[in-house]
Amino acid sequence: MTRIFSGIQPSGELHIGNYLGAIKNWVALQQQFSGSLFCVVDYHAITGNYDPELLRQRRWDMARSLLAAGIDPQKAALFVQSDIPEHTELAWIFTTNTPLGDLERQTQFKDKVDRMESIPAGLLMYPVLQAADILLYRADKVPVGEDQVQHLELSRDTARRWNGRFGEGFFPEPQAVLTPTRRILGLDGKAKMSKSLGNTIGLLESDDEIWQKLRPAMTDPQRVRKSDPGRPEVCNIFSLHKAFSPAETVAEVDTNCRTAAWGCIDCKKVLHANMVQELTPIRASAQLLADEPSRVLDALADGARTARQIAQDTMREVKSRMGLDPMRAP
Ligand code: SF4
Repeated sequence: MTRIFSGIQPSGELHIGNYLGAIKNWVALQQQFSGSLFCVVDYHAITGNYDPELLRQRRWDMARSLLAAGIDPQKAALFVQSDIPEHTELAWIFTTNTPLGDLERQTQFKDKVDRMESIPAGLLMYPVLQAADILLYRADKVPVGEDQVQHLELSRDTARRWNGRFGEGFFPEPQAVLTPTRRILGLDGKAKMSKSLGNTIGLLESDDEIWQKLRPAMTDPQRVRKSDPGRPEVCNIFSLHKAFSPAETVAEVDTNCRTAAWGCIDCKKVLHANMVQELTPIRASAQLLADEPSRVLDALADGARTARQIAQDTMREVKSRMGLDPMRAP
C-alpha cells in the first residue's frame, strides 16, 4: 500500500498560494491513496521567536481551513504534530546519525542564517525533524513544493543511512510528488505568495476583499495602456486563471490579452468570478466548522489516534533494532 504523508506549518488560515500549491493536491491524493496522513507541523513553527497565544490560534485556524478545503477525516488522518511525541523521539535518533555538513549545506538554512545574529540550533535541525515526520509513518510519497525537494533528499539520505546501519529496507526512501500547480506568486507578481510578505489572498476572504486585492494586482508590466498587446506568459493573473478558470476561458484570456481585446480589469473580473465560484463552498464549510468546533476537535483526535498507532509501531521496531528496547535481564 502506497502511503502519503505531508505537513504544513500552522500559519493561520490558508491563502490561495497554500491552497493551489499544496492542499488542492492533498485533497486529490486522499481520494487516490487511502490512509494518507496530513499533519499540522507545529514543532516546526517554534524555531524562532513566537507568541504562544498566536500559535494556539493559528493551529486552530489551519486545522479548520484544511477541513474546509476538503481534507476528509473519513479518507485521511489529519493531526497535529505535537500530539505525537514519537516525532521528536525519532528526530533525536536521526540527529545522532546525520553529518553536520549535510545540514549546513541546506539552501533554506543558509538563506535564513545570513540575516541572523544568533542562530537557533532548531533551525539547523529542521530537516532532521522533517525526515522524522515522514519516516515515522514509513511514507512512500510526499507531496511537496519545489522549494522542499532538497529537504526531501535529506530524508532519503537519512533513510538510506539508518537502513544501512540497522536494517536494510526498513524505511522506504520517500519520493517527491510535485504539485501540478507550480510556485504561485504573490499579488506583487515578484515573490512567492507568503503571509510575511503581505501579498496573499486568504482562502476564506469575502468576495469583495478578494476583488479589492485582485484589482491593483501586478500584471504584464509592459501593458501600460489598454490598447497595448499583453504577454500572458509573464502575467501572474494568467497563472491564477490556469488554476481557477476552465480551459476554454484560459484560451480566451490568452487570445484577448495578446490582441488587447480585453483590458486587465476585464480579465481580472473574469478571474474573480471563477475564484468566487470555487472558494464560496470552502468559505461556507469553514463557517459551519466555526459554528461547530467539536467537528474540528473530533477530526484531529481521530487523526491522532491513527497516526499514533503507526508511529508507535515504527518506534518499537526502530528501538528494537538499535538496542533500545525495554530492558531485559541478560
Ligand atoms: S489581460 Fe490578463 S493575462 Fe493579460 S496582462 Fe492583463 S491581467 Fe495579465
